[in-house]
Amino acid sequence: MTDESIPEIDHRIYVPLPDSWTAHAKRDSVKEYCHTKSEGEEHFHLLMKGEIYLMHQGEKYCLNCALKQETITTDRLHWKRS
Ligand SMILES: [Zn+2]
Repeated sequence: MTDESIPEIDHRIYVPLPDSWTAHAKRDSVKEYCHTKSEGEEHFHLLMKGEIYLMHQGEKYCLNCALKQETITTDRLHWKRS
Protein backbone atom coordinates (compact mmCIF):
# COMPACT_ATOMS: atom_id res chain seq x y z
CA MET A 1 0.00 0.00 0.00
CA THR A 2 1.44 3.40 -0.96
CA ASP A 3 0.73 6.84 0.40
CA GLU A 4 -0.41 8.84 -2.60
CA SER A 5 0.15 12.17 -0.85
CA ILE A 6 3.91 11.69 -1.08
CA PRO A 7 5.14 12.51 -4.58
CA GLU A 8 7.53 10.02 -6.05
CA ILE A 9 10.96 11.57 -6.43
CA ASP A 10 13.70 10.01 -8.50
CA HIS A 11 16.82 10.24 -6.34
CA ARG A 12 19.10 8.63 -8.86
CA ILE A 13 21.95 10.71 -10.19
CA TYR A 14 24.40 10.07 -12.99
CA VAL A 15 28.01 11.00 -13.73
CA PRO A 16 28.42 11.66 -17.46
CA LEU A 17 32.22 11.23 -17.14
CA PRO A 18 32.48 8.22 -14.82
CA ASP A 19 36.15 7.57 -15.61
CA SER A 20 37.40 10.78 -14.03
CA TRP A 21 35.04 11.11 -11.01
CA THR A 22 34.48 8.86 -8.02
CA ALA A 23 31.66 8.90 -5.47
CA HIS A 24 32.33 8.46 -1.75
CA ALA A 25 30.52 8.50 1.58
CA LYS A 26 32.39 10.55 4.17
CA ARG A 27 33.40 8.17 6.92
CA ASP A 28 34.93 10.45 9.53
CA SER A 29 34.12 13.70 11.31
CA VAL A 30 37.26 15.51 10.20
CA LYS A 31 36.37 19.02 9.03
CA GLU A 32 36.61 19.06 5.25
CA TYR A 33 35.08 21.39 2.76
CA CYS A 34 33.76 21.23 -0.75
CA HIS A 35 36.42 22.41 -3.22
CA THR A 36 34.15 25.07 -4.69
CA LYS A 37 31.31 27.30 -3.56
CA SER A 38 28.09 28.47 -5.09
CA GLU A 39 27.89 31.77 -6.91
CA GLY A 40 27.23 34.60 -4.48
CA GLU A 41 28.16 32.52 -1.44
CA GLU A 42 31.03 33.52 0.82
CA HIS A 43 31.69 30.12 2.37
CA PHE A 44 32.74 26.67 1.28
CA HIS A 45 30.33 23.85 2.08
CA LEU A 46 31.27 21.72 5.07
CA LEU A 47 31.12 18.02 4.26
CA MET A 48 29.35 16.09 7.02
CA LYS A 49 30.02 12.58 8.26
CA GLY A 50 27.93 10.24 6.13
CA GLU A 51 27.55 12.75 3.31
CA ILE A 52 27.98 11.50 -0.24
CA TYR A 53 30.45 13.58 -2.22
CA LEU A 54 32.40 13.32 -5.44
CA MET A 55 36.13 13.37 -5.94
CA HIS A 56 38.15 14.50 -8.93
CA GLN A 57 41.96 14.80 -8.95
CA GLY A 58 42.08 14.76 -5.14
CA GLU A 59 39.48 17.49 -4.74
CA LYS A 60 36.12 16.93 -3.07
CA TYR A 61 32.81 18.35 -4.24
CA CYS A 62 29.43 18.31 -2.52
CA LEU A 63 26.52 17.07 -4.62
CA ASN A 64 24.92 20.52 -4.82
CA CYS A 65 28.01 22.02 -6.46
CA ALA A 66 28.50 18.97 -8.66
CA LEU A 67 24.92 19.34 -9.88
CA LYS A 68 25.35 23.08 -10.53
CA GLN A 69 28.56 22.43 -12.45
CA GLU A 70 26.82 19.62 -14.33
CA THR A 71 29.40 17.10 -13.17
CA ILE A 72 26.39 15.01 -12.22
CA THR A 73 22.90 15.05 -13.61
CA THR A 74 19.46 13.73 -12.77
CA ASP A 75 18.85 13.28 -16.48
CA ARG A 76 18.73 9.56 -16.98
CA LEU A 77 19.15 10.00 -20.72
CA HIS A 78 22.17 12.34 -20.50
CA TRP A 79 24.21 10.01 -22.69
CA LYS A 80 21.81 10.64 -25.55
CA ARG A 81 22.39 14.38 -25.42
CA SER A 82 26.16 14.54 -25.22
ZN1 LIG B 1 29.73 22.57 -2.56
